[in-house]
Amino acid sequence: MCANNSMQNTGLMRVLPTVEPGYMKPLLPSEAPQSPENWMDIMADVERVIMPGVTHWHSPKFHAYFPTAQSYPGIVADMLSGAIACIGFTWISSPACTELEVIMLDWLGKMLDLPKEFLASSGGKGGGVIQGTASEATLVALLGAKARKIRQVKDQHPDWSDNEIVGKLVAYSSCQAHSSVERAGLLGGVKFRLLEVDSKNKLRGETLAEAIRKDKEQGLIPFYVVGTLGTTNSCAFDRVDEIGVVANRENIWLHIDAAYAGSAFICPEFRYLMKGTELADSFNFNPHKWMLVTFDCSTMWLKDPTYVINAFNVDPLYLKHDMQGSAPDYRHWQIPLGRRFRSLKLWFVLRLYGVENLQRHIRKHVAQAHEFEALVLADPRFEIVAEVVLGLVCFRLKGSNDINETLLKKINGAGNIHLVPSKINDVYFLRFAVCSRFSESKDIQNSWKEIKLRADEVLEEQSVSK
Ligand SMILES: *Cc1c(COP(=O)(O)O)cnc(C)c1O
Repeated sequence: MCANNSMQNTGLMRVLPTVEPGYMKPLLPSEAPQSPENWMDIMADVERVIMPGVTHWHSPKFHAYFPTAQSYPGIVADMLSGAIACIGFTWISSPACTELEVIMLDWLGKMLDLPKEFLASSGGKGGGVIQGTASEATLVALLGAKARKIRQVKDQHPDWSDNEIVGKLVAYSSCQAHSSVERAGLLGGVKFRLLEVDSKNKLRGETLAEAIRKDKEQGLIPFYVVGTLGTTNSCAFDRVDEIGVVANRENIWLHIDAAYAGSAFICPEFRYLMKGTELADSFNFNPHKWMLVTFDCSTMWLKDPTYVINAFNVDPLYLKHDMQGSAPDYRHWQIPLGRRFRSLKLWFVLRLYGVENLQRHIRKHVAQAHEFEALVLADPRFEIVAEVVLGLVCFRLKGSNDINETLLKKINGAGNIHLVPSKINDVYFLRFAVCSRFSESKDIQNSWKEIKLRADEVLEEQSVSK
């Protein structure tokens, strides 16, 4: 039965399913059953209906996107959260839910050596919160930044209306930022500029300063910048140390999106990559990507949550309680009202692995990425297109975009391994992410063999057609 051994089996199966859109409808009745069904029948249907349509994210042959976490401590904690089934929107709605989250965000912040202004235990205003996703964190920070800037501008121009001010607001990120960053601008109803990057795909301070100068000349009001540590396209690191200086000087909110790479900062040797974080107003990463905490768990720290709290503060009587103010009411830190007991997942994962095993997990993936990089470099038909820093290798066949598109189509068509492409400056390339916690050196070698085999086919076909 799948539930017993699917984790061991994922490595043996095709990583991509072969089903077509709509495959499920004929397999299921068109209405819910009137009377209860039998557990064994349901489990049999998991095999028959569900498993054929699952993409195996935890197979060592899965190299698409970025990893998503899976671990037994995470699963068990999720079950416990489901069993307790509280909704922790205020402290009184379930005190343990709020208090464990405050403490776990401090544990984790210390593991990353975040500047102490971000930590609740520092005794200042700062603190952390678990959001569902990095996308929500970027939006929440933008809304906090928007509230802060409106307030500042109103102090200087009491006669300006909110709408007038909002119409002038402008935010920035690099053109390499995740799509969710630009989307936060759309959702927040503000202008968003995607700025050019340097030859290593990093946003530089000077570029930001120049964009701000031009916008101010036009009478616009810069208020928010997102620095990405570990871009999705190529795992590039914006120069947050430079951007932060500009942001602080111009009094604009700096949010750091380290969704993928943030997990690596639990290893001291990768912390050079987060230089400048002390200049940020908010910092976010996804333990649900690379730190073995099952989705969803996106951790966000704010130096001063006041602006976020005020931006969302609607206070009906049924949510008021006597202890207000002595512990965070996390409903004010996020977009939804309801929230699950997600900190249990952090607590279980951190305790059952210990920091040292989580570090080992990160280091192993980085080593495997370098192993793959060496294989690519040893084959003169291929090239590496971006520096390999963590667990992502960006590579391509030397030659046209077309030939690389054909290569990827063949690889994914065969379905033995799975990769997704990206494009920077019109150069199409393949992204090889080390994803599975079961991944071993032999899996990297096997995936490379598969890629070479498909490359042989592509180059063979090309030479025949010439
Ligand atoms: C994955 C990723 C995101 C989006 O993460 P979600 O938690 O799914 O919203 C944002 N930014 C970067 C850099 C990412 O890699």
